[in-house]
Amino acid sequence: MINLILFGPPGSGKGTQASNLVEKYNLLHISTGDLFRFNLKNNTPLGEEARSYIDKGELVPDAVTIKMLKAKVEENPDVKGFIFDGYPRTIPQSEALNEFLQEKGEKVSKLVMLDVPDEELMSRLLNRGKTSGRADDLDSDIIQNRLNVYKETTFPVFNFYLKDNTSVKVWGVGPLDTIFQRLCLEIDSI
Ligand code: AMP
Repeated sequence: MINLILFGPPGSGKGTQASNLVEKYNLLHISTGDLFRFNLKNNTPLGEEARSYIDKGELVPDAVTIKMLKAKVEENPDVKGFIFDGYPRTIPQSEALNEFLQEKGEKVSKLVMLDVPDEELMSRLLNRGKTSGRADDLDSDIIQNRLNVYKETTFPVFNFYLKDNTSVKVWGVGPLDTIFQRLCLEIDSI
């Protein structure tokens, strides 16, 4: 089973590349951001709980996020593997994922980080905001907050998985199909 973490800052192209990878490798794509947005749109209690954090570009508390992630995995017992996109974003989320997979006799196969410079991220996100309908893509202060949260709280997850050689970086700038090929090379070597 492949358990791939597609990692990287907001705007690094995780969602775009995940859709291509899903097709090629037949994995289930789990984006915690998409799951939260689905709940926001449908005004569920989970959506209500998450709303204030998402609107400010803060992380939703670990307990809520971990529970949602586990439920999604449990709903899909028969898949060939997972692409975790936007999860884990904190060390406690990483520990919870490891423990959860271990209970199933599984582990994280690889963490692949899409590496993109900051200036490029800001302009990509502002540009995406014109069409994404996402309030958190429209305001440069909120975007900056998301980038800061990534650096301070989320980037340590890369080093957490580096300890057992599970983390690699892939250059996330260039034509989409070139970036896709770089990702495929990493996945094919699992
Ligand atoms: P994304 O679509 O991955 O950029 O996520 C959008 C927003 O959803 C983030 O800014 C957070 O507020 C929330 N979110 C998504 N994934 C997580 C996570 N793993 N932990 C905490 N909050 C998250």
